[in-house]
Amino acid sequence: MLRLAIQKSGRLSEDSLALIRECGINFISSTYKLKTEATNFPLEILFLRDDDIPGYVQDGVADLGIVGQNVLVEAGFPNLEVEALGFSKCRLSLAVPRADGYASVASLQGKNIATSYPNILSRYLAEQGVQANLHTISGSVEIAPSIGLAEAICDIVSSGSTLLGNGLREVETVFRSEAVLIAQPNLTAEQADLLEQLRFRMQAVRRAKR
Ligand code: ATP
Ligand code: ZN
Repeated sequence: MLRLAIQKSGRLSEDSLALIRECGINFISSTYKLKTEATNFPLEILFLRDDDIPGYVQDGVADLGIVGQNVLVEAGFPNLEVEALGFSKCRLSLAVPRADGYASVASLQGKNIATSYPNILSRYLAEQGVQANLHTISGSVEIAPSIGLAEAICDIVSSGSTLLGNGLREVETVFRSEAVLIAQPNLTAEQADLLEQLRFRMQAVRRAKR
């Protein structure tokens, strides 16, 4: 038996459920239940907040998970990744107020930057040789410059319309992300075999869509 953790409700949920179904795995999902069992594959599905998924898989509370690389890398467990899934593609970018001058990433030296991704951002800034003050906030990062909390932000961008609406301009791509399948490090031989069956089906689903 394998336990797979997926996001309960959010941008990963629909595509995660669709992928499992396209793998030929049947289950009944209800918005009220936090757990369901597949009827034709030894799989239990747990519905969790995406931020909790890497930790649960690292600890073996769940055997598998589907999560964004952004959340996985920020949590510090990039080595749990076993398969890129090709959906929920997005990027983490730096943005500054449109009215402010910006020449290069060096312009951020000594500035205050608001983000929900302090680990990914601090690694990027270190690589660029830039020192800045990071302010970790968990949501509504885009309003930080207009309320005087920071001179720049680093947040998830897909279309850019949220940035535009807050008077911000995207200036650097810090990290590119997509949904990935992750697995706990200590699967039994039987679980590892089930994982291989699952990966084989996932790869076939992706190939069929090309
Ligand atoms: P939760 O309540 O589970 O913590 P959340 O609000 O943190 O959810 P969502 O906004 O649902 O997270 O995003 C989940 C993941 O989907 C992100 O971590 C990212 O990998 C991806 N994602 C976020 N925004 C977009 C987007 N605009 N387009 C595509 N993928 C995105
Ligand atoms: Zn989250």
